[in-house]
Amino acid sequence: MKIYIETLGCPKNTVDSENAAAMMKKAGHTIINSPEDANLIMVNTCAFINDAKTESIETILDMAQLKENGDKILMVSGCLSQRYSEELFNEIPEADIFIGVNEYDKINEIINEYTKEKRLRYAKDAPADYCEIPDREIEPSSVSAYLRIAEGCDNVCSYCVIPSIRGPYRSRLMESITEEAERLAEQGVKELVLVAQDVTAYGRDIYGGYALHELLSKLCEIEKLRWIRLLYCYEDSITDELISVMADEEKICKYIDIPLQHVNDKILSSMNRRSTGDSIRAVIKKLRERIPDIHIRTTFITGFPGEGEKEFNELVEFIEETEFERMGAFSYSMEENTPAADMPDQVEQETKERRRDILMDIQREISLKNNTKKIGEVMEVLVDEVMEDGTYMGRTRFDAPEIDNGVIFTSESKLAEGQFVNVEITDAFDYDLVGKAVKI
Ligand code: SF4
Repeated sequence: MKIYIETLGCPKNTVDSENAAAMMKKAGHTIINSPEDANLIMVNTCAFINDAKTESIETILDMAQLKENGDKILMVSGCLSQRYSEELFNEIPEADIFIGVNEYDKINEIINEYTKEKRLRYAKDAPADYCEIPDREIEPSSVSAYLRIAEGCDNVCSYCVIPSIRGPYRSRLMESITEEAERLAEQGVKELVLVAQDVTAYGRDIYGGYALHELLSKLCEIEKLRWIRLLYCYEDSITDELISVMADEEKICKYIDIPLQHVNDKILSSMNRRSTGDSIRAVIKKLRERIPDIHIRTTFITGFPGEGEKEFNELVEFIEETEFERMGAFSYSMEENTPAADMPDQVEQETKERRRDILMDIQREISLKNNTKKIGEVMEVLVDEVMEDGTYMGRTRFDAPEIDNGVIFTSESKLAEGQFVNVEITDAFDYDLVGKAVKI
């Protein structure tokens, strides 16, 4: 069959779709890029917050319309299908097969089981151990790839549904991670972006302690890799060993993503976060002392239940004093079946959004100030895109794919996607940099 996969949500979903694509190819199916020409359409959904749920349902219904033009199977997978399996099955008869997040290893059997007479629905609970799917189908020319090192989460933040969807934390075996990294490097991948719900908890469940630093040392031995990046770190699991390997290994980007969510102790406690304002300030201080050019990405939630002007102003002052290199802010999204949804002192939607915008206005100025300091510097840039007008779009070591800043630059010589080039920064915008390629 010709199969089209539409992936929504986070990099973990991207990895799931790439695993599914590899499994399907192994069974003789072909993965194509247009849903119109497909015999089977798979929509890999997200259910993290309300907006993501809405987008997932709209996408399923859009794909369902394509079924009218002939014989197509519509398959729904991912977090929304895991969380609302029965409801979706009953409310969206246009879709034929529903699987959750724990059926990808059985995806071909499920496709073979499907007949026109019988719609299918599977959403089994998370297995005890990490479910290894050996193969991965990434874009042939990709020089950047996500590498999932664990599944699930034990942190149970009071506003989050992920643990109820993805299950408890399960680390992958270090051997299988390094084997996959070697395979990806052989395929031409130069940048590996490590992902999990909590990357810093890696190893605690299967190796009796934090093992991310050991894993990173092993990944740095893979010669063909150039950049190794960490996303989704939890502040109180950032060990001295991790900071040391980040400081010492040239391949590890001096970049770290730590979604802090807030800084006020009362709010952090009602979020069921293990940190305090002081412990957060301490880990940021330690990171900046040990790795002077570290670029810290973080995200905050505004309008969490109980957040008054006092708590919010503390967050504003913290952001102004800390000047994060990269920052995002989201208004709190009440998620059913989470403790936070039943908390008193829910905040008005208008107030949540106004506070989010205040944080983003502050960050835009900080980002422009930081970017302006880079004018005149020569930075290593990975070419992500060749633009029609002959300019290029790329990223520095300090920019994760799909979420961070870019570098718009010119080059006298022709460049291709995936090339690393030195760029002299000539100008700065709020978020992006401008430059020209230089020979060193
Ligand atoms: S760390 Fe918290 S917010 Fe992140 S996935 Fe786990 S429970 Fe959710």
